[in-house]
Amino acid sequence: MVDALALGDRRWLLVLRVRDELFTSAVVEAQDAFRRAGAGDGVAEALLDRTASAGEEAGSFSFRRLGQIGPWTGERAIEVDQSNESIVVGERAVVKRSVRTVSGDRRPMLLPAHLSEAGFTEMPAPLGTLGWRHEGGMAPVASMAAYLPGARDGWEWYVEMVDRSIEDRSVDAVAPAAALGALTARLHVCLATPTEVLPAPRAAAGNETVASWGADAERDLGFALTAIDGEEGGRLRHAARSIREELARLPVRPTTTIPIHGDLHVGQFLRWRDGLAVSDLDGDPLGGGALEGPPARDVASLVQSLDHVRRIVEQRQGVSLDAWIADASEECLRSYRDELALLDAESLFDEELLRPLRVAQELHEFVYSAIYLPRWRYVPDRALAALLSEGA
Ligand code: ADP
Ligand code: MG
Repeated sequence: MVDALALGDRRWLLVLRVRDELFTSAVVEAQDAFRRAGAGDGVAEALLDRTASAGEEAGSFSFRRLGQIGPWTGERAIEVDQSNESIVVGERAVVKRSVRTVSGDRRPMLLPAHLSEAGFTEMPAPLGTLGWRHEGGMAPVASMAAYLPGARDGWEWYVEMVDRSIEDRSVDAVAPAAALGALTARLHVCLATPTEVLPAPRAAAGNETVASWGADAERDLGFALTAIDGEEGGRLRHAARSIREELARLPVRPTTTIPIHGDLHVGQFLRWRDGLAVSDLDGDPLGGGALEGPPARDVASLVQSLDHVRRIVEQRQGVSLDAWIADASEECLRSYRDELALLDAESLFDEELLRPLRVAQELHEFVYSAIYLPRWRYVPDRALAALLSEGA
């Protein structure tokens, strides 16, 4: 344990180091031991409370307030599959604690504030952040945002809608793909807008940086080739050459970068009482993602996630969704481009990057499944095969 923040009433937030990795934990003192704090123990309430009276520094912990916080009470855990731990407080706020944290990861600390200043409202309104400062820089510990009533993420609402569209032809399961594309364009335009938080968000990546994206994908391929066994592994090894050819098509020349979302997929789009919102600007759950990237990377991961919705539904229902995915991905891309054009921001999208980055995304999905979610591997297995055959 490298640090501890006392939250009163025997509650503690701990910073733990395992070799050179940092983790956080929330615990409660009970008799002569500690137990893990859960919803109802008041850790999230206390963090909000401390953020509300911000400007406060407690040792190496620093709270920053970004929105109005009320005296909300009552905790409930969010139960969907997630990388971190999110607790809803008083049905008004979500307090998300980073389970694993990385020094110098500026995303959770900067992006919500940057977007809010840029006038972006299609996200949960940011309420605050908590960071832990040490010699290695600032490590994000928690972020707080307004709770969106009735929110369900796209792995629920979109999968369910595609499910229903099979039986019921009046259900239009293509239109939401267009809505996601347009929303992504508006997100990118705001991310590219200079603010006090990020005065120069738009930059040009040089040849070396672009080449490093290709190298990252090669590394994912190498990892997947050793980590994925069974039939999926066999198919991957068989496809390795054409995958490398696809990656080699990444055009090594300067291109525009902005602070991208970094983990954009249908699960980040919340459908709630008042419409759609994009959430979770914490970047790649496998870590290491820089703040800046080509907007095409977000578009690539979004379009591939539509294919993942298809795989989930096909697997469950034993049907073919060939027609739906063709329309949905086309509409998503079309409305992304149209919305950028409408906002006079076409130059953000370097379309030549799209296909190699889509391939790279599937390799990343393999890595994710190998590390965190073994039952997910059928998804990149099928999605990658489809992508490769489409290009052939
Ligand atoms: P993780 O990075 O751990 O995946 P997310 O930020 O994506 O965490 O949140 C996990 C889930 O919590 C989301 O899929 C969504 O269901 C819910 N959620 C997140 N933020 C909000 C919010 N502001 N309002 C309502 N629900 C939310
Ligand atoms: Mg998420």
